[in-house]
Amino acid sequence: MTTRQEYRAGDRIFSQGDPGDCAYIIEAGRVEISILRNGQQFPVSILGEGEIFGEMAILDGLSRSATAVALDPVRLCVISRDQLFQRVENADPVVRLLVSLLIKRTRQMNADLIGEQSPILGRLVADQGKDAINRVRFESELQKAFEAEEFSLHYQPILNLKTSTPLGFEALIRWESPTLGRVRPDLFMNVVEESSLMVPVGRWLQARAMEDLARMNRELSADYFVSINVSGRQFADPGYLEDLEVSRRKSGLRPDQIKLEATERIFMDGPLTIKMLERCREYGYQISLDDFGTGYSSLSYLREIAVDTLKIDQSFVRVLDSDPKAEAIIQSIITLAGSLGINLTAEGIEDQATLEKLVSLGCTQGQGYYFAKPMPVAELKRHLSLAS
Ligand code: C2E
Ligand code: CA
Ligand code: CA
Repeated sequence: MTTRQEYRAGDRIFSQGDPGDCAYIIEAGRVEISILRNGQQFPVSILGEGEIFGEMAILDGLSRSATAVALDPVRLCVISRDQLFQRVENADPVVRLLVSLLIKRTRQMNADLIGEQSPILGRLVADQGKDAINRVRFESELQKAFEAEEFSLHYQPILNLKTSTPLGFEALIRWESPTLGRVRPDLFMNVVEESSLMVPVGRWLQARAMEDLARMNRELSADYFVSINVSGRQFADPGYLEDLEVSRRKSGLRPDQIKLEATERIFMDGPLTIKMLERCREYGYQISLDDFGTGYSSLSYLREIAVDTLKIDQSFVRVLDSDPKAEAIIQSIITLAGSLGINLTAEGIEDQATLEKLVSLGCTQGQGYYFAKPMPVAELKRHLSLAS
């Protein structure tokens, strides 16, 4: 828990050599940081509103390397060791490595006062160094894989559950690596999503999915839709809608034949991302909320942003038969969607019992291995010709 502390001008906040168990962010007032040398205090800096101090001792496990005194009436926000560690640990590995190196360098500048290097910091730097190198290597492998056209798209049909008629399909990326073999998308897409690669990869996969759908609809004289997974990073790109429109016009599809699937996480990505989502919808694209019920704790965004489809997460669907709580959750999602006029798609339907249960609860659309696994476009075409 973050707490607040207040000090009067002249109060000592901590002294050099004290054990360090928290850091501080200055909310109001100024703080003087000084170090003891040859029995005398030497001021080294004066910090003001919004600045942090006291973080080094809690990150590297050593005692306070300086003294902090309030120069004015001061209000501080206190951050505990656990809170700080959590934040550093959750950061990108390259950022973590940078943080540890910066602390180490600052510590070295005061080496005469410290005498020895912290073993905890040494381990932190070594571990994070490995993580950072692995991450950077993996990103360049993905970049090469993209350039070498090792990515492809598979499609999984989405059906009307009552009639078992296909309505459209979801595009799912595949990576066939000559060295690693087939790599699961949940193992590499999070790295792609966090890197600058997401924008070009996203652009490519959207264009490919639209081309494939347009050809399929032409050849089968059908009106299927395609659902495309879009990450927050793509929506945050100011040129996103323009790129989407260029590919769509080229394909000859209507915007309402394209569903953009985003997870609830994008509602935490800030106003620009949400604005982009709204603009896409204004242009006529369908918006589908993926993994519904697993990510975001508040439903208030459903009031603010119009979405067309909610996708009930597989984790509820898979245990529908055995877990009465999952059934209660699905039932309430179905009621919620019904009263808001939103479509529902259940994913991860693996057997007939689950299908029947979903239909009896009022769910109208779904996808899952029971009907079909994701497949390459040629196979999908055969599958759909047989189904129609
Ligand atoms: P997701 O968007 O929730 O995709 C559904 C996943 O469930 C797919 O896994 C699909 O193959 C799998 N699935 C469908 N029906 C069943 C079933 O009946 N049983 C089981 N056990 N699984 C089923 P996949 O293709 O491995 O994708 C995993 C995740 O990777 C996706 O989850 C999505 O988060 C990400 N992903 C895949 N393709 C893309 C993409 O093109 N762009 C982005 N941004 N993410 C993608
Ligand atoms: Ca999806
Ligand atoms: Ca999903």
